[in-house]
Amino acid sequence: MRNCEHTIKKTYYFEGKGLHTGTYAHMKLKPAPAGSGIKFRRVDLPGKPVIDAIADNVSNTARSTTISRKETVAVTIEHITSCLFGLGVDNAVIELDNIEVPILDGSARYYVDAIMKDGLVNQGVTRRFLELTEPVEVEDSLSGSWIKVEPAAAPSIDLTVDFGSRIIGVQNVHWDPGVDYASEIGPSRTFCFFHEIEYLFRNNLIKGGDLDNAIVIVEQEATDEQLKWVSQVFGLPDLHVTDDGYLNNLKLNFPDECGRHKLLDLIGDISLVGGYLNAHVTAFKPGHALNTRLAKILRSKIK
Ligand SMILES: [Zn+2]
Repeated sequence: MRNCEHTIKKTYYFEGKGLHTGTYAHMKLKPAPAGSGIKFRRVDLPGKPVIDAIADNVSNTARSTTISRKETVAVTIEHITSCLFGLGVDNAVIELDNIEVPILDGSARYYVDAIMKDGLVNQGVTRRFLELTEPVEVEDSLSGSWIKVEPAAAPSIDLTVDFGSRIIGVQNVHWDPGVDYASEIGPSRTFCFFHEIEYLFRNNLIKGGDLDNAIVIVEQEATDEQLKWVSQVFGLPDLHVTDDGYLNNLKLNFPDECGRHKLLDLIGDISLVGGYLNAHVTAFKPGHALNTRLAKILRSKIK
């Protein structure tokens, strides 16, 4: 892994609706000085307030990671933070003119493609790797999810997804600095189960959901009535279930795309520790609540 801090070469522009709020945002991804870390700036609010992308600022983890500071909020930050961490970007500013980061295609592909076209800028400052003195473990007894972190010579992650799903089965995925994030992890899209859609929607989530930005897994048989409801609410005509259990004719980017996306999310949430941690992470069925709870504990241990 590179031993110097890096930033991006120039400013990149993105725009689109947010997955959960459905609000439309313009986003600028800008270079930042060495030692400044990753920051979000709400340019639509008075004084253009800044929020550091650190675990202490996490305020909501319902199906995405939200950070806030006083009244300033940034929703669904995990795909852009994952991309920056995965590509080795230590310092950047993400400017938003609305509350939520655009979901784009549900992966980090657009960010990756933009940044890697120009390459990164070496800032000539030694990167400080974070060290742990003892293992840390968190678990959610309700879901059976757990994450274990053990001190190691370099950062790495092993993750297992097992929802008892007949469609996606059990998936094991791995990241370390030798894995090419840009081609192996960045293009994996977010997903949800068809039978959760109505519940999520009625709980003020996935308002910007679309078949262009999420993989929909049809685990249980979808009735005509359910398909009609989803079709009407999301404005999606011609919904059907494929033989292999996905909504419409979806081509997966990887056979284990869901596992890879969980890894993408975990990398984004772990980045909120505030740097590269010399530790091996083992995660079973992780989610944003557990990931960010862990990141908070890790921050308190390395201070
Ligand atoms: Zn995600």
